[in-house]
Amino acid sequence: MTAVNYPDADYGDRVRRARRVMEEQGIEALLLSVGSDLPYLTGYEAMPLERLTMGVVTATEASLVVPQLEAPRVADRGVFEVVPWSETEDPIDLVRRLMGPARRAAIGAQTWAGFLVRLQQAMPEAVFSDATTVLRPLRIIKDADEIELLRRAGAAVDRVVARLRASSFGGKAEAELAREVMVMTVEEGHDAATFHIVAAGPNAASPHHEPGGRIITAGDCVVVDFGGRLGGYCSDTTRTFHVGEPSAEYSAAFGALQAAQTAGTAAAGPGVAAQEVDRAARRVLEEAGWGEWFIHRTGHGIGLDAHEDPYLVEGNAALLEPGMAFSIEPGVYVAGRWGMRIEDIVVCTAAGRDILNNSPRDLAIVD
Ligand code: ZN
Ligand code: ZN
Repeated sequence: MTAVNYPDADYGDRVRRARRVMEEQGIEALLLSVGSDLPYLTGYEAMPLERLTMGVVTATEASLVVPQLEAPRVADRGVFEVVPWSETEDPIDLVRRLMGPARRAAIGAQTWAGFLVRLQQAMPEAVFSDATTVLRPLRIIKDADEIELLRRAGAAVDRVVARLRASSFGGKAEAELAREVMVMTVEEGHDAATFHIVAAGPNAASPHHEPGGRIITAGDCVVVDFGGRLGGYCSDTTRTFHVGEPSAEYSAAFGALQAAQTAGTAAAGPGVAAQEVDRAARRVLEEAGWGEWFIHRTGHGIGLDAHEDPYLVEGNAALLEPGMAFSIEPGVYVAGRWGMRIEDIVVCTAAGRDILNNSPRDLAIVD
């Protein structure tokens, strides 16, 4: 795994705010392991390994239980007391002792089930809930430093798109182009490239296609959806390319898609229900006759995780607020034939919205 350099945020303030939410929700201990909740509070990301790493926050104490051999990786930010455990100690017992009398515990959603089972066996009287309820209200609103990292990550993927628009696709395998995208993602300033979808021709009808051996040829559409992490924060953009001129049908559908993406972006703003953004984009594709082929939600929140709250989906009536960051990414997928998607990251502001991806959104014609 690639070590991530988390920024120097005010972690003490984040812990204080988490404690306020814990108190409101009647939670006595917060237990965080693998996933982004722990680095959000500590600046340290647990290694996803069989040795337990766990942040333990109670009303008065904040401790970070780490395997002794990984303790040198922890940058001391003065908020958590680092508690290393040696190979012969039982880290579950250590967590139990750090919890003191606390028995109502919220545990990180991505903590390995095996650790939760061992905690439950060690404390049969404890009640565990999902810590997402504690961290969601904090993480969903990005501060100015977090938005700046999202903006820099967005600008970096835009530079990759510019390079892709000037390159030739024909004759390359999807997987080969995907590797090039990965390399460029790092060259343009990310700490790591994290995903890279390259889907050509009929494969483009599968939104999460795994790039494979298919050779890109004249007449193919190519959906490229990729991103990385910069200072812990994620980028995620999609642009659609076409090798040579598209058919009249494809052009018409792409025109509708672009209008849908613009409508979704225009709908986003403070006080707007998340589902209204989805409806605004979907309505355009429905009216153009492509609605049945738009088979996923319009967008997802983004931050330390590539997918997090808020989700722009029918049924989510929660109101958007300044500081929320999310994708707007409608697509059209005609099974067995072709696909297309356009995706930008957008931040809700007091005045409306700020678009963090600004590479051209038209259908890019390549060789
Ligand atoms: Zn994407
Ligand atoms: Zn996305």
